[in-house]
Amino acid sequence: MKTIEKIRNLTKGTVLFEEPLSKHTSFKIGGPAEIFVEPSCVDDLEKVIKFAKQNNLEVTVIGNGTNILVADEGIRGIVIKLGNKFGKFTFSQNIAFIEAGASLQFFIEQSMRHNLGGLEFAFGIPGAIGGAIAMNAGTNSHYISTKVLYGDVMDLNGKIYRFKHDDFHFDYRYSILQDERLILLNAVIAMEEKDEKEIVKAKEMNLRVRYDKQPLDFPCAGSVFKNPPTTYAGKVLEESGCKGLHFGDAIISDKHANFIVNLGNATADDVVNLIREAQSRVYKNKDLVLELEIKLLGDFKNLGLIERKK
Ligand SMILES: Cc1cc2nc3c(=O)[nH]c(=O)nc-3n(C[C@H](O)[C@H](O)[C@H](O)COP(=O)(O)OP(=O)(O)OC[C@H]3O[C@@H](n4cnc5c(N)ncnc54)[C@H](O)[C@@H]3O)c2cc1C
Repeated sequence: MKTIEKIRNLTKGTVLFEEPLSKHTSFKIGGPAEIFVEPSCVDDLEKVIKFAKQNNLEVTVIGNGTNILVADEGIRGIVIKLGNKFGKFTFSQNIAFIEAGASLQFFIEQSMRHNLGGLEFAFGIPGAIGGAIAMNAGTNSHYISTKVLYGDVMDLNGKIYRFKHDDFHFDYRYSILQDERLILLNAVIAMEEKDEKEIVKAKEMNLRVRYDKQPLDFPCAGSVFKNPPTTYAGKVLEESGCKGLHFGDAIISDKHANFIVNLGNATADDVVNLIREAQSRVYKNKDLVLELEIKLLGDFKNLGLIERKK
């Protein structure tokens, strides 16, 4: 029996061969996943993970693909997307239990209807809860980590652990999920009791700021670089003449220099060439090494980015 058929026997979810990942990323860029699986429940996920281990298949997990750049050659092994089947959430007073595939936007909209807030800063951040916690998504002053009480994670042996807040080792756009091969299954989040009207006001204000500042008309993956400790990546990129730079259909936005947008047919190589050029200009002009915020998935040969001295 072929590998893909064996995996189909393990899960009631979706199993696809050579699935284009451009369909699963907000950049609309990326080659195929050799095997693409959307498991239907934790038991299915565990079976797929154990199968991958027994068969030496690489595992990559994605959420809504809004902070990743996938290589043009795609990703070997199994790409697991935690999607709608992992999308449930419930409330108990001001505590929310959320599965990792739930949409962050849908969740905060529904919380608002229950007069629960605290995540207003996240209005306009696309993606799923798993991706948001893995990336410690937020703004310059607010991070989702501050609300996370605990969560369940699965390792690549299929074993499940309960992580308390501190076990995630949260930092600016960082959690340990990025370094340890762990899949977040769910999280428990502390919300604040607030009047719906007050939340709506904050939502409208936050969305207006985003529409004014961000190039939301074209596919992108949010901020490309992390902000350095003392300044903004967008500012130093702009001051280094990066706005409007382009390779193929990948261009540094004129509206916000920390956004690369896909004008239609950009490739991952185009984006990487642009990242390299932008990083090098800022290094020469400002003596600053910008670090990537977006995650590169797949094989990027000869990346040649400047490393920050530890
Ligand atoms: C227009 C736009 C605006 C944005 N604005 C912001 C912003 O203001 N602030 C901000 O922080 N981000 C922003 N982003 C980036 C992005 O939306 C967030 O980082 C988001 O939280 C990522 O979630 P995702 O589900 O799309 O994750 P993905 O992009 O699919 O994955 C991101 C990383 O998380 C890992 N991951 C995903 N799910 C899991 C899981 N269940 N377990 C373990 N690891 C997992 C992946 O392996 C990958 O390394 C923006 C993006 C766009 C396109």
